[in-house]
This record gives sequence, C-alpha cells and structure tokens, in this order.
Amino acid sequence: LVRLEQVSKRFGDRTVLDRLDFSVDAGKHVTLIGPSGSGKTTILRLLMTLTKPDEGTITVDGRTLYPAPEKQVREIRKNIGMVFQQFNLFPNMSVLRNITEAPVTVLGMSKDAAEERARELLELVGLSEHLDKHPGRLSGGQQQRVAIARALAMRPQVLLLDEVTSALDPELVAGVLDVLRDIARSTDITMLCVTHEMNFARDISDQVLMFDSGRVIEAGPPEKIFSEPEHDRTREFLSAVL
Ligand code: ATP
Repeated sequence: LVRLEQVSKRFGDRTVLDRLDFSVDAGKHVTLIGPSGSGKTTILRLLMTLTKPDEGTITVDGRTLYPAPEKQVREIRKNIGMVFQQFNLFPNMSVLRNITEAPVTVLGMSKDAAEERARELLELVGLSEHLDKHPGRLSGGQQQRVAIARALAMRPQVLLLDEVTSALDPELVAGVLDVLRDIARSTDITMLCVTHEMNFARDISDQVLMFDSGRVIEAGPPEKIFSEPEHDRTREFLSAVL
C-alpha cells in the first residue's frame, strides 16, 4: 500500500535518509525503531507531505505521492492520518468539534453524520463523557486519545503514529497504548508507528524496521528482531532500551 523507492532526504549537508527502500502491505502494522536522529520521524513527515524528499518516489495505494502534482497530493493525503507527539488539537474547539471539523470541511460530510461518527470514535477511545469539553481541560493521555479519534474520523487507509506517548506522564501511557492495540486488532487500517515502547511494538507489529543513519539495517517480524537480532547495531540499540 505504501512504497518508498530510493528515497533520500538531506538537511543542509546532512543526509537524513539515504536511498531508502521499503514497502508496507495493506492492513499491516509496521514499527520503526532505531536511535534518535536515524530518520524515523522524517519518513512519517514525508508520507504526511509535511516535507519533501530530495530524490526517489513515494506511492500510496498505487498512486504517486511524490513526485506528483499538488492536486493529486491533496487527494492522496486524505487517505493518510497522523498523530503527533504533541497532540496538536485545536485548543479553542470542543472535543467533538475537533473531531468533526476535518470530515465536514475537507470531506464535505454533513454535520450530523460527522457528529455521529465522532461519538462512535469517542466511545472507542473511552471519552464519551468529555465531548463538550475543550482540550485544555483534559489530561495529556485524554488529549492524545482525542487526537487518535480525530485522525480516524477521516477514515484514513494509513495511520501514522509519531512517538505518540513520548510527551505523556508515565501513568497515562498505558491508556493510550491500549486504545491503539484495540484499533490495530479491530480495524483493517495500515499503521506506521515510530515508538520507543518496545513491548507495544512487539504486540502490534507485523514487521519491525530497525533504522540506523537513514537506512533500514534490519527488518523482520517482532519475535525475530527482539529475540534474535542479526545486526550488532540492533543488539546494542535493544540492550540500551529494553
Ligand atoms: P527521534 O527519535 O529523535 O525523533 P528520528 O529517528 O525520528 O529521531 P528524525 O526526526 O527523522 O530522526 O531526524 C533525523 C535528523 O534530521 C536529525 O538529526 C534531525 O536533527 C534532522 N532534522 C530533522 N528535521 C530537520 C529540519 N527541519 N531541519 C534540519 N534538520 C532536521
């Protein structure tokens, strides 16, 4: 469903992604692990078209996202949702409105249909009783669950998760990860996930990609990567984080 071919990205004279190739099949959950600065977040940002590669091609569901005309990029982007480390909710809108805004304005959904869907999603993330509140009145974990519901409201084919628990107090992490486990189990959404939560990665991933210096140095199912890594760098990384 998602394919990167020979993708390179530089910031100044620093090569952040180096002729990267990988693909993710529809419905699969792929986790990107590796040391800080190895380029993981940059990949999600490329797929979200928040930044552009210097070289290479990116396709989603057989359609070219890069290089492609702006109109095509906007169409493909509707199928991709992202949840950020810092929730990025609209602070002056209610929880419900945070979730209905994009479906109404971008997809042209009716307000009633969008609200019905938002209520279902709030139930899924365990926040039904908070729909009228503003984000500032919620805990970080609750805000992040709203952000997940907001991303899902667009019915994306692909969900990008960028260290979604890194900014949370430790006691709030489990609630967010449980919601994501649920979504991974109960939907056919394709997930690309950058995380430092290795137990979570082990639970939800079909495949784990180990990054180092802008390249995938090792890839495989979680039981293989976590139990019998082949690469020294993977072993070093895992012994530092596990
Ligand atoms: P982390 O776990 O710390 O987020 P990462 O593997 O996700 O690491 P990236 O965020 O993709 O790494 O960043 C890779 C490198 O690119 C880093 O060295 C970062 O400083 C650099 N970088 C990212 N965005 C920019 C930018 N807009 N301008 C300049 N350098 C950038």
